[in-house]
Amino acid sequence: MKPPPFEYHAPRTVGEALEALADAGPDGKVLAGGQSLIPLLNMRLAAPARLVDINRVSGLDTLTADRKGVRVGALARHAAVERSEAVAERQPLLRQALRHVAHPVIRNRGTVVGSLAHADPAAELPAVLALLGGTVRVARHGEPERDVPAAEFFAGPMESALRPGDLAVSAFFPALPPGSGTAFCEIARRHGDYALAGVAALVTLDDDLRITTAKAACLGVGPVPIVVDVSAECDRRPAASADWAAVAAAVRDRVEPEDDIHATADYRRHLVGVLAERALRSAAGRASHG
Ligand code: FAD
Repeated sequence: MKPPPFEYHAPRTVGEALEALADAGPDGKVLAGGQSLIPLLNMRLAAPARLVDINRVSGLDTLTADRKGVRVGALARHAAVERSEAVAERQPLLRQALRHVAHPVIRNRGTVVGSLAHADPAAELPAVLALLGGTVRVARHGEPERDVPAAEFFAGPMESALRPGDLAVSAFFPALPPGSGTAFCEIARRHGDYALAGVAALVTLDDDLRITTAKAACLGVGPVPIVVDVSAECDRRPAASADWAAVAAAVRDRVEPEDDIHATADYRRHLVGVLAERALRSAAGRASHG
């Protein structure tokens, strides 16, 4: 199908984009990589009167990685972030998760910030931002930029804290604390499909290789990414003798998925237990080996 008619704007600067979005109000939509929005238009599930295409806006394709973390501009494509060695060094979970996002051809065009704005509960990057406690920087005509923490950014299925007129200009993924490791595991029916369920894990060890922090972010099992802190269940045990099956069971018991056409709630809960054990064990292994 073809999309419904819309007015098309192609601003060259952030200021022009914000003016166009302010003029459009609730009838406007940002077009970034188009990998989610264009299918929605073609299926007539969305019908914005005005599209503000940000692909020609200068200064939004930036990607910076330093000891504080990784800042990803609104036009940085999945593929660019996935391939960056500097990003992998400062925040390895991004590359680990991006390998599961769709197919290479979609990752060449889709943007990390677009994935966050789209807020699909089965998407990988919202879970990564939520696990790491990252932020989204939001610009709006006539107002100062604001940083929205992940815990407030994801409001519901396909619903973010972005209001009509807002432009997400970048996202920040904090660097890992020393002694940390991460891992990402998911199950999809076909490679490249959205996951039935997935788990991103972060484990931090002290100098004696005892577990100080263990957290999992679960996707596909709730309206937003579900972050579960299981540090207490690890009881500061040495990573080598942790009971990851018991810790993963604690993660599984804290999610409440629903039945849908793809899987039952019980099956999804079971998947979370299996994936949490794999992801936590692997994250701990990486933390142990520096
Ligand atoms: P767009 O499609 O351009 O926009 C998506 C939404 O976000 C729109 O509402 C748009 O207005 C808004 N938006 C985008 N950028 C901004 C911004 N800077 N400020 C404010 N609002 C903004 N994704 C996954 O996570 N996992 C998958 O497994 C997966 N599989 C896919 C399989 C297929 C076949 C396809 C077609 C897509 C798949 N995707 C998957 C989606 C893909 O990752 C998209 O690229 C991503 O969801 C959106 O990024 P985009 O840049 O294409 O955004």
